[in-house]
Amino acid sequence: MEGEKAMSKGIEIIDVGGVNCYLLEADDGFVLIDTGFSAKCMFLDEVLKKALNKPGEVPKKLKLVILTHGDSDHAGNCKFLRENYGVKIAVHFEDSMMVENGDMSWNRKSKPDKISFTFRLVTLAFGKNSVFDTFKPDIYLQDGQNLAEFGLSAKVIHLPGHSKGSIGVLTNEGDLFCGDLIYNLKTLTKVYIN
Ligand SMILES: [Zn+2]
Repeated sequence: MEGEKAMSKGIEIIDVGGVNCYLLEADDGFVLIDTGFSAKCMFLDEVLKKALNKPGEVPKKLKLVILTHGDSDHAGNCKFLRENYGVKIAVHFEDSMMVENGDMSWNRKSKPDKISFTFRLVTLAFGKNSVFDTFKPDIYLQDGQNLAEFGLSAKVIHLPGHSKGSIGVLTNEGDLFCGDLIYNLKTLTKVYIN
């Protein structure tokens, strides 16, 4: 179901219909992980405006968009957000041409998603909605990269598998944000999968 879910510890889960995005409170602003399908652009815009402009508070800035990987249901609104929020877009280099060319099979050795149940389901369910405005990333993420410069106490973890450039964001508190991936860190970590 589309809508906003509970916020905890400065983490807001934004359900954009089939995909979750995560808005993390950072120093002097926010960092958004993933952006959903382009068809959900106006909904995401509305949620972000509300979060960044809380009544009685100084308006906050969206400082960075991090993509867990380059698939269209995660990268769909990057170009819009860059143009409207002046935000930089960060993605792992191994997925860079997925978002530059809009080719979801790029750099996928055996093109597994072409035949996977998920791919077929997504294609059937969303059809032309999976088309999105391609863009050149501003920042290429690397394994172990510290995100402190963006006001986030977290680091990047390279998690190749679903795509070669899939990454997770691991906060100092032990929360892991990743996309289309199940990752077992036992009881030490809460895992957010979108
Ligand atoms: Zn995916």
